[in-house]
Amino acid sequence: MEKVKVLIIGSGPAGFTAAIYTSRANLSPVLYEGIEPGGQLTTTTEIENFPGYPEGITGTAMMEDLRKQALRFGADVRRGIITDIDLSQRPFKATVDHEHQIEAEAVIVCTGASAKYLGLESEAKYRGMGVSACATCDGFFYRKQDVAVVGGGDTACEEATYLASICKKVYLIVRKNYLRASKAMQERVFNTPNIEVLFEHNTAEVLGDEDGVTGVRVVSTSGVERTLDIMGFFLAIGHHPNVEVLKGQLELDEQGYIKVVPGTSKTSVEGVFAAGDVKDPHYRQAITAAGSGCIAALDCERWLLAQK
Ligand code: NDP
Repeated sequence: MEKVKVLIIGSGPAGFTAAIYTSRANLSPVLYEGIEPGGQLTTTTEIENFPGYPEGITGTAMMEDLRKQALRFGADVRRGIITDIDLSQRPFKATVDHEHQIEAEAVIVCTGASAKYLGLESEAKYRGMGVSACATCDGFFYRKQDVAVVGGGDTACEEATYLASICKKVYLIVRKNYLRASKAMQERVFNTPNIEVLFEHNTAEVLGDEDGVTGVRVVSTSGVERTLDIMGFFLAIGHHPNVEVLKGQLELDEQGYIKVVPGTSKTSVEGVFAAGDVKDPHYRQAITAAGSGCIAALDCERWLLAQK
């Protein structure tokens, strides 16, 4: 069985920041990148609000830089998914890709959060055939076409404005009569002429044929039905924390996010720390995730020192 001091699970800004700090502290961290190497930021366009990038930077470029920075200090960054983990006793035992066993003195969980879907049968049927939860990844396929985005938060507004720059028309389907997004994002949406906001509308069915999505049937809260002819249907209705592999082993809050001692990264299990979106239903920014990765690394380093 392989033995490591610090196991980091996840490769978003939290995971890589934890790797940079723990490797500089000579803790020889091993980081498993997980299902989506680089995390959610690799599915975003331009990041304009991360301090230090006056011209902005793409999510992919930022994650590549963070990865290189972690490697520079000796972090062992590996492809692989933690498929099982036992946090009931120390050292903690994890299984990678159902086969490789690893023992860790401390664990930093940075597994992030994943996109939510509406749960319609027709939506599942056309997933990957016009239904997507990532405009940046898939918007390109619908250049000069009509598309729809569901949601009224910052993500939906960001995706709608991005799509509006490459598509002919974007419908923004919002279930309430207002957008929950920040004022700046709302203004961008309202000032983009090829975005039509459909307030108080819900999706009843995604329509399609053997080639993929051809439309969507929406219903207003007053019961008026309408079919939109679109080729791309994008979900932007929030995320759920990726805690499946840890289920039942760490205390979670009522929304399913990992509970930490306020102001720290300490979870309900001594020696297990959490950082990034998996413990943060509120801020969910690259900069806050990176900051919490730093906190987790420092908490972990201090905890390991105290064990001696
Ligand atoms: P949010 O939870 O903020 O918004 C989700 C949106 O989806 C809401 O409008 C919600 O409607 C709607 N929704 C949820 N479920 C359904 C459903 N079943 N059917 C229809 N609509 C639904 O998620 P976001 O991903 O937009 O944002 C998460 C966090 O990340 C926020 O704090 C946000 O500010 C932040 N963020 C910041 C960015 C930036 O600063 N550049 C960019 C992107 C995100 P309702 O309002 O009715 O609940």
